[in-house]
Amino acid sequence: MTSDIRIPRTSDIIARALDYRASAVRIDDTAVVAQIDRLIANLPSARLCWVLGTLVIDSPSGHTYHVTRGGCDCLNGQRSHKRQCWHVLARELLEDIFDTEAETADQEADAPCAVWPRVAAARSLIWARL
Ligand SMILES: [Zn+2]
Repeated sequence: MTSDIRIPRTSDIIARALDYRASAVRIDDTAVVAQIDRLIANLPSARLCWVLGTLVIDSPSGHTYHVTRGGCDCLNGQRSHKRQCWHVLARELLEDIFDTEAETADQEADAPCAVWPRVAAARSLIWARL
């Protein structure tokens, strides 16, 4: 059962990956830089969808991989000490993008209503006339 959770545009995912990459370069984390480079190389040819909380990736290699919070079922992902496949990174990026969207929506919902300054000004005028 495919979920209706939206997959962000590939360009948005890659933009977020490039942010991560810049941070990894700054701290000289070559393993993460390589992971991000694999994602950038493969993502445009991959197909992603959510199925009941699992990110399903039809990889350009012809294989289909399943990424849960516990990891990925590809060979590299099955090595518990190596969560360095690009599939796991793809899931982390999607979750990060969703978190940012949720935070932005919360901030917009909490922002003062644009009409309140005009209400306050009108109230001041009314009180000034009394
Ligand atoms: Zn994997």
